[in-house]
Amino acid sequence: MEQPIYFDYAATTPVRRESMDAMMEALRRFGNPSSRYEYARQAALRVKEDREAVARAFGCSPAELFFTSCGTEGDNWAIRRGVEANRRKGKHIVTTAIEHAAVLETCRDLERQGYEVTYLKPDRAGRITAEQLTAALRPDTALVSMMLVNNETGVILPVAECVKAVKAFDPAILFHCDAVQGFLKTPEPLIRLGTDLVAVSGHKVGAPKGVGALYIKKGVRLRPLLTGGGQEEGLRSGTEATAQIAAFAAAVRANLADPGRLERAAAIKEYTLSKLKEAVPKLEVISPGDAPHICAVTLPGYKSEVIVRVLGDRGVCVSSGSACHKGKPSHVFAAMNLPKPWLDGALRLSFSPDSTQEEADALASALKDAADSLFTTLS
Ligand code: PLP
Repeated sequence: MEQPIYFDYAATTPVRRESMDAMMEALRRFGNPSSRYEYARQAALRVKEDREAVARAFGCSPAELFFTSCGTEGDNWAIRRGVEANRRKGKHIVTTAIEHAAVLETCRDLERQGYEVTYLKPDRAGRITAEQLTAALRPDTALVSMMLVNNETGVILPVAECVKAVKAFDPAILFHCDAVQGFLKTPEPLIRLGTDLVAVSGHKVGAPKGVGALYIKKGVRLRPLLTGGGQEEGLRSGTEATAQIAAFAAAVRANLADPGRLERAAAIKEYTLSKLKEAVPKLEVISPGDAPHICAVTLPGYKSEVIVRVLGDRGVCVSSGSACHKGKPSHVFAAMNLPKPWLDGALRLSFSPDSTQEEADALASALKDAADSLFTTLS
């Protein structure tokens, strides 16, 4: 199949050339970093340099950064072990109703184990405030988990402000942030959020699938989720995925070497939205997105799964919400209390700094044809 016209960068990104090269190099030099000879020592040294590169992007010390297999693993580790570390405080968790399934399903699992979870509801624009969070805090709150960038609306949540509010209420409450969609997509390094824990994922920033990282602030003690050979300072066992780690670090370096990337993504998003509105006047914007790379629109009354399929048949890739929904209505848009016809026709568009105007024009023309040829439930 030809390369698609791709507007689903929040689902995953193409692997960058630099990442492929770094990955091939690491695959060729295959030593196990834990072995005790020079060849392996070199592999360990490369992992150390890669950790330093990713830590630089976070703004943290390399000793605070642990490689994982994905964002989901980081979220699970942070939340499951975070509440366990704070068990003496209580069994109350605060999160938002618009988190990714990696957080929500983990919280639901903890509910089955006797934890109580407060899910903060967003307003119609998908926003959550520090006041809402403060009002939900209790003496037995053990952990707060709040994402940085919502993966379906592109809304940036006020994490830094919320951390201040939580720590003013009780410094012992652990604060986890799922920054899978925020890493390298906001101008500030993630360390500035002030959270105790942050999970990110490689495949959202130009690395292959199968690698991520969890930041654990110095002084915060989390037991490992994976026990075994004691890699990652005994906190995340499993032979280091040297090739994926090398590719992740290469993608991070390449992103940092391109300071104009955020403005370019924002500019192409703006261009696309204006073209879409011109081509399909009935299109409504659910959220223009604060983050440069995500926005949400709707064709009220249409069925988004059908639109996604019709566009897909023309080689145009968009999403009806998070890729994990597989056709189920988005819990994010539902939590925003959108009218049913808006929910039905909701689409998430996500961008790369290298998305082009030609691609945006092709999307607009394909969406216009889809809207002209499909029936709505409104007519
Ligand atoms: N959190 C958010 C906000 C996401 O968008 C995703 C993936 O879509 C994840 C977590 C899960 O990351 P991964 O696919 O690396 O497990």
